[in-house]
Amino acid sequence: MDFGKYVRTVPDFPKKGILFYDLMPLFGSSEGFPRLIETIAESLPTKTLAHVAGIEARGFIVGAALANRLGIGFVPIRKKGKLPGAVRELSYALEYGQDTIAIQDGAIGKGARVLLVDDLLATGGTAKAALDLLEQVGADVLETVFVAELIGLGGRERLAGRKIRSLLTYH
Ligand code: AMP
Repeated sequence: MDFGKYVRTVPDFPKKGILFYDLMPLFGSSEGFPRLIETIAESLPTKTLAHVAGIEARGFIVGAALANRLGIGFVPIRKKGKLPGAVRELSYALEYGQDTIAIQDGAIGKGARVLLVDDLLATGGTAKAALDLLEQVGADVLETVFVAELIGLGGRERLAGRKIRSLLTYH
């Protein structure tokens, strides 16, 4: 299926100069979204997974649906201050300033096989931080799947050595 036909580009969002790839029409489509989840599920390594982990916020949409399809649990990687109880945090640099992500202690057991998902790979800063955090808690991340990838922003290079895959690519 051509998932790209459901993707909308919005110039100057959320700020001037950014071309935003809006995946909500794909997630909202009764044809597109189930097919998207099925396509990812069918393409996964045959090894049994313990969890799907997803990055806030759009990674939750794909990640939770995929976990449900696979009959396994979903673990959220959230922005700092959103998860209750003991958490492990990791800070990473943004173009201006920094951001912090967190995962709950005990959400993933040591050596547990995890698939990481997010909606879109741009510079790779967010995914790299999430992968580092998952590795810190002892997860065995088999692969990272993105719905879309923006080529030329350095994401693939930043994630060199990690197994990554995207369904749609944009130049
Ligand atoms: P990055 O850390 O630069 O790879 O950015 C990835 C995150 O930012 C993803 O979670 C995306 O949701 C979001 N993002 C970055 N750039 C865009 C864009 N041009 N269109 C839509 N989402 C974007």
